[in-house]
Amino acid sequence: MKKLLQIQQMIYNRSDFKILDQKVNNKPLIYFDNGATTQKPQVVIDAITHYYETINSNIHRGVHSLSQIATEQFEAARRSVQNYINAKHTHEVIFTRGTTESINLIASSFGREFLNPGDEVLISEMEHHANIVPWQMICEQKGAKLRVIPFDENGVLQIELLDQLITSKTKIVAITHISNVLGTINPIKLIIDKAHSKGIPVMIDGAQAVSHEKVDVQALDCDFYCFSGHKMYAPMGIGVMYGKEEWLNKMPPYQGGGEMISQVTFEKTTYNELPFKFEAGTPSVGDVIGLQKAIEYIQSIGVEKIAEYEHQLLHYAMQKLEQIPGIQFYGVSPQKVAVISFNLGTLHPYDVGFLLDQMGIAVRTGHHCAQPIMQKFQIPGTIRASFALYNTKEEIDFFIEALHKAKMMLE
Ligand code: PLP
Repeated sequence: MKKLLQIQQMIYNRSDFKILDQKVNNKPLIYFDNGATTQKPQVVIDAITHYYETINSNIHRGVHSLSQIATEQFEAARRSVQNYINAKHTHEVIFTRGTTESINLIASSFGREFLNPGDEVLISEMEHHANIVPWQMICEQKGAKLRVIPFDENGVLQIELLDQLITSKTKIVAITHISNVLGTINPIKLIIDKAHSKGIPVMIDGAQAVSHEKVDVQALDCDFYCFSGHKMYAPMGIGVMYGKEEWLNKMPPYQGGGEMISQVTFEKTTYNELPFKFEAGTPSVGDVIGLQKAIEYIQSIGVEKIAEYEHQLLHYAMQKLEQIPGIQFYGVSPQKVAVISFNLGTLHPYDVGFLLDQMGIAVRTGHHCAQPIMQKFQIPGTIRASFALYNTKEEIDFFIEALHKAKMMLE
């Protein structure tokens, strides 16, 4: 109990997030849906507004001043991302619309070049659909097979099966860093080292990791790392695909169009150098600038400090939730972020979610775009509460009370 009281109150200025200061259904908003998307601090919103009010111009192609300023800011943002994930080269940072597009890019481009009939792609049983379906699609086209690393009843990957599952036919391992349902932090370094010892590249889905963990792509030595801006306090519609230069140079372009070309004739097109080869068309410049601001915001607090604070919230919430009779948790790995999936006895998660919403509490209910996890547990869905740096212990107290109320009303 003593430990609970030691949670430091605020490691940030909550007024940075105006959206939190409102009532929903006549109750003060408690936003526990951060796994789906985080709220944006004012500095990010201001940066986007400033861009459209003063700079808006298409990049890379213009000689005029605004175009040059926009280009400089766009490329400065690329350097910020490089620095944030410690990529070796700036041109290894490719801007996309988000994790989904990043994974589709890799599956399509890597798959077209390197997958052949009978080859295998190894993923895990805890993947988001974004790291299942693109691989299924390319496997179908190429006559390749998807293989799956299972997880145990605690939501821990059965890493001991890796030696069996990585075969001479495996062409790539694509694995989530942190599960969006179970909260499990996977031992990706171990997986990467094991795959590399057999000469196999590894792609990491970092959608749930980048705002909760220090990510160092060189230390990890991953070949690809994908993430979305909107889950790290940046705008929607912007994301990153990091790829090692050696792979990106070997892979064909994903989309064709402006900017990704070197020369076009009707007979033949040659492609631009990295990173532009993978950035066809006009990018979302304002959102890239917003992403840079979000990175600066996270860095101004320190991602390790954020992680530490969220862990305290996780432990506080778990100790209180465990006392609710009939509660069932999904994902209790010792290595876990502040994502809690649970059900209350036989109550349908939608019914509980609806009542919580009436009390001003935003949680996610359903399959969380990870239906294989639901199939494994044989449930229709879960209630998921996921915390961010602006959540508080008082919000958790209110949440627990609300769950008791919902339970009483529905049982
Ligand atoms: N991967 C994981 C683990 C996720 O949690 C999500 C989104 O929830 C995605 C991929 C897809 O991200 P986006 O919808 O931003 O492309």
